[in-house]
Amino acid sequence: TNRVFSGIKPSGDLHLGNYLGAIRRFVPLQQQYECIYCVVDMHAITVWQDPADLRRRTYEIAAAYIAAGVDPKNHIIFNQSQVAEHAELAWVFNCVARMGWMARMTQFKDKAGKNSENVSLGLFAYPSLMAADILLYKATHVPVGEDQKQHLELARDIAAKFNHDFAPSIAANGYGEEFFPQPEPVITGPATRVMSLRDGTKKMSKSESGSDMATIYLMDDADTITRKIKKAKTDADALPSEAKGLENRAEAANLVGIYAALSDRSVEAVLAEFGGQGFGTFKPALAELAVSVLGPQAAEMRRLVADPGEIEAILRQGADRARELAARTMTEVHDIVGFIR
Ligand code: ATP
Ligand code: MG
Repeated sequence: TNRVFSGIKPSGDLHLGNYLGAIRRFVPLQQQYECIYCVVDMHAITVWQDPADLRRRTYEIAAAYIAAGVDPKNHIIFNQSQVAEHAELAWVFNCVARMGWMARMTQFKDKAGKNSENVSLGLFAYPSLMAADILLYKATHVPVGEDQKQHLELARDIAAKFNHDFAPSIAANGYGEEFFPQPEPVITGPATRVMSLRDGTKKMSKSESGSDMATIYLMDDADTITRKIKKAKTDADALPSEAKGLENRAEAANLVGIYAALSDRSVEAVLAEFGGQGFGTFKPALAELAVSVLGPQAAEMRRLVADPGEIEAILRQGADRARELAARTMTEVHDIVGFIR
């Protein structure tokens, strides 16, 4: 069967990029795939997290999945640390992956900055845990934002190297030819990389927002969303009527992409409507659209986190179901690697 896995780190407050690049895309996949959506709390602690904030944000992300329309009865929502097999498989992958592969990851270089001697070892090995998250469930499809593409390629490399290194043992144990599948990224449509509202060259991000006006948070109220959009950096030109007119106009392209994603339309369709008009017209239309989509999402998230009993039950049941699948893979991995059980 085809299976989807994806996750978000409780490392900061959820923003429009997380919503459009990930959460919103999780919903339609449920019709076609068996979906596993995780709150990846073990990834979050690769940089320091205050424990109380970590807990609160874990509930918030679970609430965001549910509010967006993920169905925890037919699919799985859980937090990573509740299924110990993630850490276990990540260790095996640490011994399959090469230092050089990790060192080439642009996210590590960005997050470590000039101070790479002083970041956690976990931050360096992060992609190995991410590969474990996906491959533990033999997931075939991974909906993520554009920024995760490189990590996903690494997960594919790890899967391939494991399959290759252990090929005789996989065959001897009767586990087929391709033990781990090659997971496919699902990165389609507009707004797969939402940029900062203050700087069209920087990704909107939980942990490095720079200015408060740069990021639309999912929990922002209507006035705040409107103010941030109206103050967003743009150029002075009118919108083009075709997508190629957005080249070299990073800020304009970003806002049009956001509009397209929020309205489930293509960039071309949005430009067919707004081409020739200035930001004086476009920004209020975008603000209104954003408030109409994000308002109900935030209201439902608030309702869910106000009484976390429901979320706790969903996470617990989700973890029980995930653990069952994960344990099956780990048993096979033990046989393949040569661990006695
Ligand atoms: P951090 O700054 O702590 O890395 P983040 O905002 O990048 O936080 P993650 O938890 O790393 O969020 O990523 C969760 C999901 O959101 C991933 O699928 C990622 O690709 C997606 N995502 C993050 N930022 C954006 C963005 N600006 N545009 C589109 N998708 C994004
Ligand atoms: Mg990130």
